[in-house]
Amino acid sequence: MRLLLFGPPGVGKGTQAKLLSEDYHIPHISTGDLLRAAADKRTELGKRAKAIMEAGQLVPDDVMNGIVREALSSKKVASGFLLDGFPRTLPQAKALAKIFGDLKIVKYWVLNLSLDDEEIIRRLGNRVVCRKEGRIFSMEEDGVTFASPCPVCGGELYQRDDDKPDTVRKRLQVYAVQTAPVIEFYRGAGVVVDVDGANSIDVVHREIRLLLGDLDTR
Ligand code: AMP
Repeated sequence: MRLLLFGPPGVGKGTQAKLLSEDYHIPHISTGDLLRAAADKRTELGKRAKAIMEAGQLVPDDVMNGIVREALSSKKVASGFLLDGFPRTLPQAKALAKIFGDLKIVKYWVLNLSLDDEEIIRRLGNRVVCRKEGRIFSMEEDGVTFASPCPVCGGELYQRDDDKPDTVRKRLQVYAVQTAPVIEFYRGAGVVVDVDGANSIDVVHREIRLLLGDLDTR
């Protein structure tokens, strides 16, 4: 099972990726999580990425391509993976095709989750993340606040700097201009599965499971 998770910020890629990763016992590779971990560790890459992320911009393609090549070369992904947050530009999509070619990866699917901008802004304004395990919660729906411990592991919850309204608007612009065209690249390859991200987490999860059940994912 090799899946690329595609869709605007806040559509639920990370949430669904965590569920699918447990269902299929395959690792969830989130480029945003990798960059945030580097920022927390204050590595050179992390310091550079933090400023770019806070501005709602994209980290340069060559940096991202290197990170993803390394992640996909690991033995841990031998039986599959969920790639979340990459590719975000056409050059990244082309680089990924080259990485797949080099690693002899032939079969993969792209799950394309969609949601309108108004709902995205509402969801991201409500989102808090567990610093320990990266689980995502909604303050409104899960009854948590920044001050609560993570309901699952007791870790610290925080709001991502780039979930503040001005940055969200910038991220949506970047998505429309640079990332949305990437889906057409994959439509041309006939590997896109469309999913409505407006439903509840459970409904979206069930729909994805049903759709994946009909595909050849070996
Ligand atoms: P995410 O957690 O996927 O929403 O990513 C958070 C931020 O990390 C993005 O807004 C970008 O600044 C950066 N980022 C993550 N993945 C990529 C990528 N593939 N290309 C460029 N920047 C990325």
